Amino acid sequence: MEISFHGKRALVTGAGKGIGREIAKKLVECGAETFALSRTQADLDSLKSEVTSMNIVQADLQDWDGSRKILEQLGPIDLLVNNAGVSSPAPFMEVKKEQLDFTYDINVKAIVNVSQVCAKGMIERGKGGAIVNMSSVASTMALKGHTSYGSSKGAVDMLTKVMCLELGPHKIRVNAVNPTVVWTDMGKASWTDPVKSGPLLSRIPLNKFVEVEDVVNATLFLLSDKSTMVNGTCMLLEGGLSCC
Ligand code: NAP
Repeated sequence: MEISFHGKRALVTGAGKGIGREIAKKLVECGAETFALSRTQADLDSLKSEVTSMNIVQADLQDWDGSRKILEQLGPIDLLVNNAGVSSPAPFMEVKKEQLDFTYDINVKAIVNVSQVCAKGMIERGKGGAIVNMSSVASTMALKGHTSYGSSKGAVDMLTKVMCLELGPHKIRVNAVNPTVVWTDMGKASWTDPVKSGPLLSRIPLNKFVEVEDVVNATLFLLSDKSTMVNGTCMLLEGGLSCC
């Protein structure tokens, strides 16, 4: 199956590292004029040196007004990947307000902010578009220490459905991707200890965690015209974990 995004303009948030970086690179490979947005300039510089046609955008999505101004300068976007996300683990009884604010600002509120700007242009141009929100299996299963992260991803799933409902009439499809552990900086930070990861891994029928490439492939499929009737889906990438 060949996917081409020639003539399309794409934006990926959190594209400095991990999953977002690889999605942005694949979008360029498939012909999209791609904007990689992230917080750390050094990551964006190294991405630009790797892929010279990449457009890089430095913004802190926790800053609603500041990032909105930057986003409004980007011009038309046809394909949006709301990938930026953070995790701030703590046992439920120790969770601080600041951890909730930080996690919700980036994992949930930034999706609303970025999507409003991009969808406004899509609606005005009348040609539709596609949006993928990066969620997690933590949206559907309780994991210890995941009060802020898990509940934020639960919100991402419902946000995806509401966006699907309201943006569908404008030919804008909205879906989510929900991986279990992926071996990025974020994944390693929480799951390297086999004492912690072992019990989760043993419940996955395929007996492995997710590769970044698996997430890239699912995301590109959902952005592409190979998935024209897929809308409002939260696509689990968890090797069958939820069957057990
Ligand atoms: P990662 O390696 O930590 O990369 C996250 C990227 O998002 C970084 O480039 C980071 O930039 C950027 N970012 C974070 N806060 C930002 C902000 N306020 N403004 C702009 N950019 C910001 O994480 P990842 O593992 O690739 O995760 C990507 C997405 O997948 C997240 O939504 C995550 O929740 C989801 N996910 C990950 C896993 C996993 O196991 N890795 C599993 C399920 C779902 P800085 O480094 O400069 O902050």
